[in-house]
Amino acid sequence: MPPGWAPTPFREFVLKVASRCNLDCDYCYVYHLADQSWRTQPRFMTEAAVGATADRIAEHVRTHDLEFVNIRLHGGEPLLAGRERLSRIAGTLRERLAPLTEVAITVQTNGVLLDEPMAAFLVAQDIGVGISLDGDRQANDLHRTYADGRSSYDEVVAGIQMMQRPEFRSHFLGLLCTIQLAADPVRVWDALLGLGIDGVDFLLPHGTWEHPPPGLVPAGGRTPYADWLVPLFDRWFDAPVRPLSVRTFESLLHLLLGGVGAHESFGLAPVALVVVESDGSYEQVDTMKAVGQGAAASGRTVFADPLDALFDVPAFVQRQLGLHGLADSCRDCDVVTTCGAGLFPHRYRPGAAYANPTVYCADQYALIAHIQRRVEEALARRGTTLAAVRAS
Ligand code: SF4
Repeated sequence: MPPGWAPTPFREFVLKVASRCNLDCDYCYVYHLADQSWRTQPRFMTEAAVGATADRIAEHVRTHDLEFVNIRLHGGEPLLAGRERLSRIAGTLRERLAPLTEVAITVQTNGVLLDEPMAAFLVAQDIGVGISLDGDRQANDLHRTYADGRSSYDEVVAGIQMMQRPEFRSHFLGLLCTIQLAADPVRVWDALLGLGIDGVDFLLPHGTWEHPPPGLVPAGGRTPYADWLVPLFDRWFDAPVRPLSVRTFESLLHLLLGGVGAHESFGLAPVALVVVESDGSYEQVDTMKAVGQGAAASGRTVFADPLDALFDVPAFVQRQLGLHGLADSCRDCDVVTTCGAGLFPHRYRPGAAYANPTVYCADQYALIAHIQRRVEEALARRGTTLAAVRAS
């Protein structure tokens, strides 16, 4: 443990309020990758688990004097829980937490069930809404389909349009778009712009050194994911007025300019996120399900353990060690403060566990190097340098 290190309290809580889904996206880390623990989870988070979770978060808020907590309602597909159950969940969380701290509640949905009553309900409950869509119809239909192969595109776009109505727009948080190498990035970009959304975050598909992501040959000398993102960064960066917020690019710029935190996939800030499964067990970031059966498990539950008990679980600690938790090759890397070795599960390799660069190492290096070059050129035109901005 580095000298002087102290755990960072948790502020982000992902609650698996529904453990099943109405789509069958074939890349989904919950149902189609290494961990199949969803099969033994209750379909919906029980009231006892919700109450105990709220009490554990309240206890954590009091212990660490936290000024805010963010709670994400997740699945499976969280809207399958229905308005009544979601109302009880949000009510319990607010009743026990709002007197102690600021509480933000959001939901990440596939959008299929986002009809007018559901949108009105979420806004009335002050629940922010993020929707998953992989771009244009062709890109989205590559993976985000029903179990019988039917497209989900039209229903998801209808959900997005619903959330953009003036009475709901205040609670629309934007899209999560998983990169599909088989899709043309410019067509994806144009489709996102055509939807008139305010924000998007591009996600890398999940994979490890043992089970690489689609189209990636680790250490193979190619950078297909950087090649996909670079033209979009240039369009976004060069636009006279930024047409939308792209969290991926904004986070990398923020880190390059000397900021900290910003994104779980980049940088060296301690990860302050806990997942609570629908049976009340604490887990690490749920994308760990891409690594192997039980990889996300902590052996602790909301019924038996305070959140502080997770500070004894090695993988939780490693995600909070910053530079000290990384492989030697990352510690020596010239872009490490921006890259941060990528998303924790993407570092996994049998034998060395998480003490590795991300399987996307070459791509992240290439993307960051490109963005840095573009920023340096832009700063030079203004008569300053990246070093000067970082120092200011
Ligand atoms: S680019 Fe590669 S070596 Fe550098 S910090 Fe990222 S993962 Fe580590």
